[in-house]
Amino acid sequence: MRKIKENKIRKESKNKTGDVFSPKGMRDLMNEEYYSFQGFFEKAQEIAVYYGFKPIETPVLEHKEIFTTGIGKGTDIVDKEMYTLKTKGGDHLALRPEHTAPLMRAYIEHGMQTMPQPVLLYQYGPSFRHDKPQRGRYRQFWQFDCDALGSEKSIMDALVIKTCMSILEESGAENLSIDINSIGDKECRNGYIKELTSYYRKNINQLPAIDKERLKINPLRILDSKEEKTKEINVGAPDSVSFLCPSCKKHFKEVLEYLEEMKIQYNINKNLVRGLSYYTRTVFEIIEQKGTEDDTPMALAGGGRYDYLARQLGSKKDVPGVGFSIGVDRIVTSSWYKKLAPRILKKPKIYFIQLGGEAKLKSLNIIEILRKAHIPIAQSLSKDSLGSQLAIAEKLNTPYTLIFGVKEALDNSVIVRDMASRSQETVKLSKLLEYLKELK
Ligand code: AMP
Repeated sequence: MRKIKENKIRKESKNKTGDVFSPKGMRDLMNEEYYSFQGFFEKAQEIAVYYGFKPIETPVLEHKEIFTTGIGKGTDIVDKEMYTLKTKGGDHLALRPEHTAPLMRAYIEHGMQTMPQPVLLYQYGPSFRHDKPQRGRYRQFWQFDCDALGSEKSIMDALVIKTCMSILEESGAENLSIDINSIGDKECRNGYIKELTSYYRKNINQLPAIDKERLKINPLRILDSKEEKTKEINVGAPDSVSFLCPSCKKHFKEVLEYLEEMKIQYNINKNLVRGLSYYTRTVFEIIEQKGTEDDTPMALAGGGRYDYLARQLGSKKDVPGVGFSIGVDRIVTSSWYKKLAPRILKKPKIYFIQLGGEAKLKSLNIIEILRKAHIPIAQSLSKDSLGSQLAIAEKLNTPYTLIFGVKEALDNSVIVRDMASRSQETVKLSKLLEYLKELK
């Protein structure tokens, strides 16, 4: 039995020609793509910090109930897309499909209610959803989130929306539009859901099977159904905004006023409810209108308010919250992405060449002197011949090379060669940093 299992595992990780490969919908980040992600995260963090958010990192694995109670049954994420596992100790865990429920878990666990409110936090990292991979949809994808926890004020909704827009715009996004809606609180939402349910019941014969099923568990989900027939029915569906109670109406009106004040264009989308059942009042999505390969609009970020999530997770007190999640894979693969260069990526100014055993022996000491002085270099220490090392230096186009041969190793010096003029000078190691500082 064990043997059969092992063979199956071995087969799953290999293709027809017997080569190993990563799981479907998951990929290695490397080279330029890695730097694109790294540059984006640096920029996004910088912006988040300016707006007052502080960092937090929660585990990739959480207890499964954090998501089943937080996000709720009747959602694709919980019903179909979660990667779950049972540990040897019998715990039921899930790879996080999103960052909000874990963040609220952390807030409750660490008693953040005692801190000055609201608590503004940002976090980023991979999320996992077992969905069908397609353009802009992976099974492991990266999200950057900002959340304001502990305040129900509408200005917090405006703050997170503005932060999200700033991050997207500074990454190069143009033609952004924001779809926004309010789905009310538990008072007004019940009345709305009743009305919505009765509307769908009247049209039940035309509803596709999947939406008939949703009607039993979570009728709000039918509003963002992808089924063509349902989309037609949705045109005449009652909208949540008309059912808002006075305090939700006031809250929504204030959010819109803040957006107008900041000249952020929005579009009230009455079918926008978003898939997760923890949302209350404001929900929004930021869509890229064009510029993608096939010009179909794509959601770059989404978010909303989740005032009851804390109680659903077991908190004795309500913790109102609002936040967003940016889909980083979709940003860095866009044609408009600015390719923000990571700060740690330095263009080498010098190519270091070593020749002969004596020089190779001391090479790492010289590289250490340069590293400590923050002089970025390139090298190929595994190579031996001058020709092959010079060829790489030419290719990299570094303005200078340091040539360290047996003679130089013996008299503690190095040759500094200007690659453009081909002039060179021998410099004592003790004077090297001073000499390099003088160079352009
Ligand atoms: P959500 O948590 O579903 O609201 O997603 C927030 C953002 O994450 C979306 O607007 C997308 O940009 C991105 N996103 C969601 N699911 C995926 C996925 N499977 N692959 C890549 N990006 C995704």
